[in-house]
Amino acid sequence: MAEAKRRSISFPRYAEYGCALKYIMEQALDVKYVMPPALTKHTMELGTKYSPDYVCTPFKTVLGSMIEALEAGADTLIMTHGLCRLGYYGELLEQILRDLGYQFDFINLSDYDMDKKKEYIKIIRRINPKVNPARCLAQFMEGLRMVEYLDEITGEYYKGCGFDPTGTEYKRAYQDFLTAMYTAHCRSDVETGYRAAKGRLQSIPLDKPAQPLRVGVVGEFYTAMDAFSNLELEQKLADMRVEVHRWMTMTNQFLHYGNGQKNLRIKIQDLCQYDMGPTATANIWYARQCAERGFDGLIHIKSAGCTPEIDVMPVLQNISADYKIPVLYLTYDVQTSDVGLQTRLEAFYDMIAMRKKVF
Ligand code: SF4
Repeated sequence: MAEAKRRSISFPRYAEYGCALKYIMEQALDVKYVMPPALTKHTMELGTKYSPDYVCTPFKTVLGSMIEALEAGADTLIMTHGLCRLGYYGELLEQILRDLGYQFDFINLSDYDMDKKKEYIKIIRRINPKVNPARCLAQFMEGLRMVEYLDEITGEYYKGCGFDPTGTEYKRAYQDFLTAMYTAHCRSDVETGYRAAKGRLQSIPLDKPAQPLRVGVVGEFYTAMDAFSNLELEQKLADMRVEVHRWMTMTNQFLHYGNGQKNLRIKIQDLCQYDMGPTATANIWYARQCAERGFDGLIHIKSAGCTPEIDVMPVLQNISADYKIPVLYLTYDVQTSDVGLQTRLEAFYDMIAMRKKVF
């Protein structure tokens, strides 16, 4: 009897998390993962061409990436659920792709109750009914560990790379780490890649002042984490010899705290009493943390049309006034220019550097 065709599954490109998804799909679920091409101007042109005008920019990025994944051979797409209108985007994306003539299976996580464990089993069975549960769980946990390692090493990288006197060693160590994660096939590959990267980053002597400029980055989930979408904001800051801190990661948002972030909400009750969106509570909490720790500035990032993060802005203004910390507000859409961003960052840098000298 002919063997059932193995799925070729894909998920839109999102920061560097594709390596963990690839690992989970291939090792835990035993399906083929189609890595969508890296995001480019072409991805954005495709996404913008077929998207409604009024949607937020991540929709356009995701649509462009899904088209590229289908063109690369994917026969199954996964779409995340979400606490804002992201939760409705799956249906719209699927319809647009079908109208374009693509044939595929669409696994929309918004169709499942992601608070219930049995729903995860349904999703796993749909992806591969023959999967071995024990093997699947072990490899799935290793995939999640890869997410944690990715966030930890990325965080270390942006804190230090601006102070690497060679200008290349830190970058090379980080790139080698990413390559190790994208090519990992087993637990030992993941652990070895992580330990090698950690050791290398720690062994590079940094030329860091006793009190470097420290900037906290907060903002909308997709744009804050995806370097392509924020026009490499963190690398640009690091290249100006700024120590960059960002709490918003998959690890912190989902693996350590989970949706709702109850414990964080209690800590900001004096600033706002209700959740205003998927990431608002965490952003407000972390912005105040940075202010209390004496950071030199905050940068708030959001996509054009992101209502939840627009609601965060007045609270950040209050934090700015209370703690006398400057905040740069950046809104990204498909037209945002790299040169325009660089100019605004340089002006912000000059201001916080001058302010640090005075105070
Ligand atoms: S958080 Fe904002 S940008 Fe992200 S999907 Fe929701 S509305 Fe769009």
